[in-house]
Amino acid sequence: MALSEFDLIRRYFTHGARGVTLGVGDDAALVRVGRGAELAVSADMLVEGRHFLKGADPALLGHKTLAVNLSDMAAMGARPRWATLAIALPKVDEAWLGGFSRGFMALARRYSVALIGGDTTRGPLTLSVQIMGEVPPGKALRRDGAKAGDDIWVSGYLGEAAMALEMIGGRGWRGLSRDDRRTLEERLHAPTPRVALGLALRGIAHSAIDVSDGLLADLGHICERSGVSATIEWEAIPAIPLVRAHAQTDSGARGLLSGGDDYELCFTASPRRRAAVMAAAARSRVRVTMIGRIERKARSPAPVTVLDSVGRALKVKARGYDHFR
Ligand code: ADP
Ligand code: MG
Repeated sequence: MALSEFDLIRRYFTHGARGVTLGVGDDAALVRVGRGAELAVSADMLVEGRHFLKGADPALLGHKTLAVNLSDMAAMGARPRWATLAIALPKVDEAWLGGFSRGFMALARRYSVALIGGDTTRGPLTLSVQIMGEVPPGKALRRDGAKAGDDIWVSGYLGEAAMALEMIGGRGWRGLSRDDRRTLEERLHAPTPRVALGLALRGIAHSAIDVSDGLLADLGHICERSGVSATIEWEAIPAIPLVRAHAQTDSGARGLLSGGDDYELCFTASPRRRAAVMAAAARSRVRVTMIGRIERKARSPAPVTVLDSVGRALKVKARGYDHFR
């Protein structure tokens, strides 16, 4: 079998780095740049035909290109500050560039992120951002801090982007109203990074990740890095009624558990901090839902167990998105 995306990164791109607080393996790296602050650095790339379809709306693409990067800052509890943009374009199309730039810069301004450099070349449409943010030393939300007994939380609602992708990818929009379609497409094309929530969770959450590859995969990353297991309740996973109803089908259930592109935060915190978590969520104007519990590392190979309404473990096939599998 081909190397998975994560085996590949581990084998070829994970080299110990001295003088680095946190290297490869989290939502962002952390480097100490002075006394008072740590710099959080992360990169995310969107490729035509892989992350978006040919002919995608350029303003929405501009938004999403930055949003997915802001989401990694959110997952670290870092305040986003600067970005560079490397872009490959098949041709100069000013209408496209105007739209892309508008979408990108509107979000940059909203989060006070400065575009400070980048690279431009001819090639298959590829949009790559490196983002940098600040976090007080030792305060970042990492994937490796989850502790047995922690509550597991997620922000917002999951599964809308996956459902939109499923509809676009084959099934079509039959049977869905125009409003339903708009709701789903908006979540896929214009995700909202949970930056305020990430900042508010500093000092409260033990660990965090953004849900970009699917809940099971991303919660699985927290488990792996923290040396723990997780049990979550199927019924507790927050989903809008449309997604919940679709989750009665196999593909719908898979989308809710393993579909990517939600860009919500999944995080863990001590049960003693429930009130603090709720207050942080209220301050950042986003809903949070407790979906399960972190446990001591189990012997079974899967780090995340999903229980149905009567406490039986669900059999889950697809565990998340991997670019090479
Ligand atoms: P995310 O989903 O948060 O964007 P990824 O799953 O893309 O994170 O990557 C996992 C980890 O591997 C991250 O810490 C990322 O920085 C690192 N990584 C990915 N590709 C490379 C690469 N080519 N070289 C070095 N590090 C990489
Ligand atoms: Mg991430």
